[in-house]
Amino acid sequence: LQGELAELVNEPATTTDGERVRLYANTGLLADISPGIANGAEGVGLYRTEMPFMVAETFPSEDEQEFIYSQVLKAYAGKPVYMRTLDIGGDKPLPYFPIEEENPALGWRGIRFCLDNSSLMMTQLRAMLRAAGEADNLRILLPMVSNTGEIDRLRLLLDDALTQLREEGYLVQRPPVGIMVEVPAAISLLPTWATRIDFVSIGSNDLSQYLLALDRNNPRVASAYDHLHPAVLREVSRIALCARDSGLPLSLCGEMASDPAAVLVLAGLGVRTLSMSASKIPRIKWLLRSIAAADATTLAQQVLQMEDAAGIREVLQQALRERG
Ligand code: PEP
Ligand code: MG
Repeated sequence: LQGELAELVNEPATTTDGERVRLYANTGLLADISPGIANGAEGVGLYRTEMPFMVAETFPSEDEQEFIYSQVLKAYAGKPVYMRTLDIGGDKPLPYFPIEEENPALGWRGIRFCLDNSSLMMTQLRAMLRAAGEADNLRILLPMVSNTGEIDRLRLLLDDALTQLREEGYLVQRPPVGIMVEVPAAISLLPTWATRIDFVSIGSNDLSQYLLALDRNNPRVASAYDHLHPAVLREVSRIALCARDSGLPLSLCGEMASDPAAVLVLAGLGVRTLSMSASKIPRIKWLLRSIAAADATTLAQQVLQMEDAAGIREVLQQALRERG
């Protein structure tokens, strides 16, 4: 199989009935750039900017960030790079900025933290804009969005960053801005936000954790954590319909994107962009090239009627076995 997978590197992930799926890489480390390209990533669907922050000894400066971001943007020239603004807090602590909280998953994290530390956010936005310069492949992705004001405030900061940089003589342009759908509150608000954002990306890891009220890193309950839980699948289906009706480009960048059983459902729900760690891309591409999207739709409709994750997984595993 390895040899067969390697031959697919330059082939598109197109289903047997002609549906094209884009496969992007998740990363946060410059060391991942070459494996991403070697595995045929068509862009970076999730660049986790907290990773360079986590390995540093203090908050990286604007110049340091610009240096890192520009390498990713250049390596993927002509291909989209979805750079997520700093997503620390919760399960992503910064050694040099400890946050002590009773309930970190529901606490000061993601965009909440960033908006309360607007100079930090400004530094990051300026670094991203400078790194992109006149290239058009930067996309800005906002984590943990749960209310309208967060999007509006971030957009004002972005306006300020663009104005400042232009006054300083930099050639910069306004990138598309989108949100992670990972806090359940975002789902019902998506239609309202369609005029404010340019795309959405489902963060299925946090979305599952928050829908199920299950800490994915707590060994006592982790076994019940499952992105094939019917409630998760039904919400993903709702997001996909809403994105389609609102004309919002949709991707999914959590672990679901690299789980073959889940990919059958996602393909069936019309999700046409998946982002995953680069090493998983060849196998998922192979799978997508071996199925018909129309069959995946039938399967997705079938499992959406089912009641428990174990039964759903069994049906999907059976379908995978039938496809070899
Ligand atoms: C997610 O929540 O699904 C996601 C992709 O983000 P992270 O795993 O970095 O929280
Ligand atoms: Mg997340």
